[in-house]
Amino acid sequence: AAKTAGKRQWRRYHADLQRGMAERARLQEGLDSSPIESSFMVLYQPIVELASGRIAGFEALVRWPHSTQGMVLPEQFITLAEESGQIVPLGAWVLDQAAAEAVRWEDSVLREGTADHNAPYVSVNVSPRQFRDEGFYHVIRRALELSGVEPSSVVLELTENVLMYNDERILAEMSSLTDLGIRIAIDDFGTGYSSLSYLREFPISILKIDKSFVDELGRSPEQYALVEGITHLANTLGLTVIAEGVEDVRQQESLISMGCPFGQGYLFAEPVGAEEAEHLVLAPPLGQLAGLRGISADR
Ligand code: C2E
Ligand code: MG
Ligand code: MG
Ligand code: MG
Repeated sequence: AAKTAGKRQWRRYHADLQRGMAERARLQEGLDSSPIESSFMVLYQPIVELASGRIAGFEALVRWPHSTQGMVLPEQFITLAEESGQIVPLGAWVLDQAAAEAVRWEDSVLREGTADHNAPYVSVNVSPRQFRDEGFYHVIRRALELSGVEPSSVVLELTENVLMYNDERILAEMSSLTDLGIRIAIDDFGTGYSSLSYLREFPISILKIDKSFVDELGRSPEQYALVEGITHLANTLGLTVIAEGVEDVRQQESLISMGCPFGQGYLFAEPVGAEEAEHLVLAPPLGQLAGLRGISADR
């Protein structure tokens, strides 16, 4: 009986595997035949100052609204686009969209903002394949020139695995980017395999603490100490820290008390469309703490 059960299990596993491969092939075909401008969209998720709920920036997050499969999330197609190289033009397009959007935020703050409004920056994810591409520097320069965005309003998010090999070239590449005035963030900090020494060696301005650490915050003193340690390290090195995936007020309060100034997560807002993002720029601060304090702070 055990044998037939095993066989059945294997068959099911095999069927799942084949379905997975077919699904991949279908997505890849869809990707190949999708003109970028008309097939993808960019959402924006607020990055807020934890203590005030004010928006400091937005992260640009790509989406693929698919005719038969609904909204396809990046997890399902970024790897495919990396393998095929399509991430290079797709990433350039996301960057152009994001830069143009940041200019709209600058404009509306200039036009209608009050003294407590700062124009938010835009933070764009860059995959290793994009970063290593020969033309990357020119893609960035072109995006800055076409949009007219303040370079200081643009952040590029790289993951630790970009920093693992070929140090000299990467350092030169990064420096040429930061010389333009843009900033570099390390995304998903703590999940990669690179040594911490790169934090001193490379021109990095921002650390984004991975959501997995924030999730575990309340679970044990050890987990708390881990996030606190990363925060202190960043503060000591003069880096700005952003906590990812903040979902409740207790996490927000813990992060504030350990000295983490910024956060991003469903507690404040999910990724929203460009129009909604423009609206949020001039709207009241986000999050429940801001709501509670806002009443007295407004007077
Ligand atoms: P990431 O850069 O770490 O982005 C954060 C992800 O966490 C986003 O998922 C965001 O929607 C999600 N998130 C934010 N707050 C919360 C929260 O409170 N709870 C939960 N459960 N999730 C939260 P998304 O948009 O699905 O993107 C996934 C990943 O895909 C990104 O991770 C990034 O690595 C990649 N990605 C997204 N857009 C682009 C892009 O334009 N280019 C490249 N190369 N990669 C991208
Ligand atoms: Mg990111
Ligand atoms: Mg991240
Ligand atoms: Mg991530």
